Amino acid sequence: MKKLFVESEQLREITKKYPTPFHLYDEKGIRENARRLKEAFSWNKGFKEYFAVKATPNPTILRILMEEGCGVDCSSLTELMMADAVGFRGNEIMFSSNMTPKEDFLLARELDATINLDDITQIDYLQNIAGLPETVSCRYNPGGTFIINNAIMDTPAEAKYGFTMAQLKEGFQILQEKGVKHFGLHAFLVSNTTDNEYYPLLAQILFETVVELNRETGSHIAFINLSGGIGIPYRPGEQAADIYTIGQGVHKAFKEVLIPAGMGDVDIYAELGRYMLGPYGCLVTTAIQEKHIYKEYIGLDACAANLMRPAMYRAYHHITVMGRENEPCDHKYDITGGLCENNDKFAIDRMLPKIDMGDLVVIHDTGAHGFAMGYNYNGKLRSAEVLLKEDGTTELIRRAETPSDYFATFDFSGIF
Ligand SMILES: *Cc1c(COP(=O)(O)O)cnc(C)c1O
Repeated sequence: MKKLFVESEQLREITKKYPTPFHLYDEKGIRENARRLKEAFSWNKGFKEYFAVKATPNPTILRILMEEGCGVDCSSLTELMMADAVGFRGNEIMFSSNMTPKEDFLLARELDATINLDDITQIDYLQNIAGLPETVSCRYNPGGTFIINNAIMDTPAEAKYGFTMAQLKEGFQILQEKGVKHFGLHAFLVSNTTDNEYYPLLAQILFETVVELNRETGSHIAFINLSGGIGIPYRPGEQAADIYTIGQGVHKAFKEVLIPAGMGDVDIYAELGRYMLGPYGCLVTTAIQEKHIYKEYIGLDACAANLMRPAMYRAYHHITVMGRENEPCDHKYDITGGLCENNDKFAIDRMLPKIDMGDLVVIHDTGAHGFAMGYNYNGKLRSAEVLLKEDGTTELIRRAETPSDYFATFDFSGIF
């Protein structure tokens, strides 16, 4: 059984105030989870989580995370602007981008963000646009396949990101000659893994890499950025990652590799997105139509434009029919949105209780990469975002789009 953070009666009340569909976020869950992460890495004095803004780009969410001691990881101009507006400054902002437009680097430098270069050619590029800061981070791509316990987790050799090892050595040397004093190393090798060994193994690779870089180039390593990738259990019964085990595993690698090398002052950073927000958001919808043809369909007032993951990756998102939690799952449905695209299905052949029109149908785990991946295909409008606060009250933290938002980029003056 997967439990939602909101009860049926409470949600009915909330939907009297905010029409469906909307994404609902759980402030209490977000804060408690952020505190657990901080505690799991408290052995490292400089530990900092830079929340990946792209996962949930909402200023209210970012402010909550700021209050819990997090920074932000930005990858574009508008994400930097949002971080600035919320009040993040200097080393509270990580800028991990790739194929970076000039104006993005300009603003990153203006905000004194820590810049994580994606490629060796970005050294000259950044220097010419905005000058080099004292501290520079580089993203590492070890190539090959990434294996944990004989299982292929991903294929870095096929990924567009990062420097090769040879480029790191050359890059660190060039950066030092250009006056850079402190260095960071970053890598993101596996996405959405609940395997407790991912972070420790990645840490070990990065620790060994910086020991070698330090030995060969004499550069001062200030931090290691383990980036994102820790996953969440989308399916019922799936084992969640244990952040304390993960923290201990990274600590063990730290003691085995960095301490003996005399590099015990290195700070550990993370750029988690999904792990920070995924379980603490859900998409609240209403069943608006049923079809009985070759299959049984339930149509919702939300569609893939509000949550793209099932259509894009065939990702599983658990579904609860509110008020029917204890009824038998004896109906097989395709749960769909209204896009003119047959992949607009939140679930296929899902066993659920009988659904009546008007029932609240809640899609779990949409707190990260949910609203954020939304789009306007078929002229569908983006939904509202609502925060369920710690005291049980709610706050509208983003209003729903209206047709005038959709038309705002046209000039209709000569027509109407
Ligand atoms: C997307 C992204 C993250 C966050 O990834 P999650 O899978 O949400 O943890 C962190 N760092 C970078 C550079 C990213 O692109």
